[in-house]
Amino acid sequence: MQTINQLDALRQHISALRMFKPRIALVPTMGALHDGHMTLVAEARRHADAVIVSIFVNPTQFGPNEDLDAYPRMMERDAELLRAAGVDILWAPPANIVYPPGFATKVHVDGPSNGYCGAARPGHFDGVALVVAKLFNQVQPDVALFGEKDFQQLAVIQQMARDLDFALDILGVPIVRDADGLALSSRNAYLTTEERAAALALPVALAQAAAKIRAGDDVAQTLATATADILAAGFARVDYFALADAVTLEKLQHFDGRPARLLAAAKIGKTRLIDNLAI
Ligand code: AMP
Repeated sequence: MQTINQLDALRQHISALRMFKPRIALVPTMGALHDGHMTLVAEARRHADAVIVSIFVNPTQFGPNEDLDAYPRMMERDAELLRAAGVDILWAPPANIVYPPGFATKVHVDGPSNGYCGAARPGHFDGVALVVAKLFNQVQPDVALFGEKDFQQLAVIQQMARDLDFALDILGVPIVRDADGLALSSRNAYLTTEERAAALALPVALAQAAAKIRAGDDVAQTLATATADILAAGFARVDYFALADAVTLEKLQHFDGRPARLLAAAKIGKTRLIDNLAI
């Protein structure tokens, strides 16, 4: 595995790689890798000849009072994991390569960016769309893989790729969870032992709400009960607990059998967790 920090070197290595491994997959990450990320890497290998993983803690997707500085960084350990997984290139650019002085371009995706995390974290998906558009141009992958853990992010990126004619396949990978059901996240490292135990209320509430909605229970009542259960378990705040159309992410008041998704975000202590479940 080559670890590369400069754009020229990246382009040279990719053209050399393409001669004997023509189909290239990209897995964008912010590092602090866990089994969720490694599942994306394993899936990438099934869909391409070569795998490139990027690690970049993207400043433009963090709000002014968010955890950019505190975000866990463990580059050497991550590089070891990726090397052992047979990754071809680790693309780990410094921030001044991605955003050099004078950088002036913004990317805004309407539609799926609106609501949910887009409402709770203003500007977040602009930052995500910008960095992913840049990564697509830098790497020019044939396929890129994203986790359904960040379900709204996946929808935003699919919308952007369609709208801007990016010629690649975008694949969503199911959520990887701990044995007890909590979705793996780099931010779980922030949780105290008590918070980690209480955090389970989030996936439990999603599973219970999904079962009720499938059984035909009233949607508004089910969502209100789920929100109350999460708060009762010790969460400080629920940003949203909603039923959405699985494609447009439009909010649904009723479940009519079409693909739908429960989406939730809630804060426990200082840590904001997100999760979702298919109906
Ligand atoms: P991050 O490093 O948090 O930006 O995540 C990088 C990629 O890994 C994104 O596409 C995430 O959706 C995906 N990912 C993060 N956690 C999980 C998980 N528990 N299961 C599946 N994919 C995940």
